[in-house]
Amino acid sequence: MPKPAIFLDRDGTLIEERHYLSEPAQVSIFPGAIEALSQLSQAGYALVIVTNQSGIGRGLFTEDQLAIVHRHLEKSLADGGVSLDGIYHCPHAPDQACECRKPLPGLVRRACDDLGLDPARSWVIGDKPADVALGMNVGARPILVLTGYGESSRTAPEVAAASAHIAEDLPSATRFILDSH
Ligand SMILES: [Zn+2]
Repeated sequence: MPKPAIFLDRDGTLIEERHYLSEPAQVSIFPGAIEALSQLSQAGYALVIVTNQSGIGRGLFTEDQLAIVHRHLEKSLADGGVSLDGIYHCPHAPDQACECRKPLPGLVRRACDDLGLDPARSWVIGDKPADVALGMNVGARPILVLTGYGESSRTAPEVAAASAHIAEDLPSATRFILDSH
């Protein structure tokens, strides 16, 4: 049976927002985030990062550099007992007209096919209007977190259109998800 998932934005949601982050040393996981992911995993959710990385399409860093950053992130999470089910990224710049740049559903569709996930029982958590719109576009429930760009996103039309839940941060979003069971 398809599994529910947490489709999790990376920058500003799981880790501190940095302008075109490209080095492992720039990765700073938010306080409480590892514990939150551990709770979600124990509750039966697959954990999948979905992230727009247009720095690749813009020529600011390479796929190899991104892979090094993600290996570092996965190791840091594993040290806290959390293993991700997948990391899916869109490498394209906005003008490349791809089908995977959030809020388009490409990354989530790919993850659902690869991992056997059920978007209708899943959540999308992120700090930008595109994350909330992604939730709507794939039929999952969106949560806007107020970390990263969250404060400036909360008045965006997407947030109202989706009736998105607004949470202080990832641990708070996690409590909301687990309380809604
Ligand atoms: Zn793309």
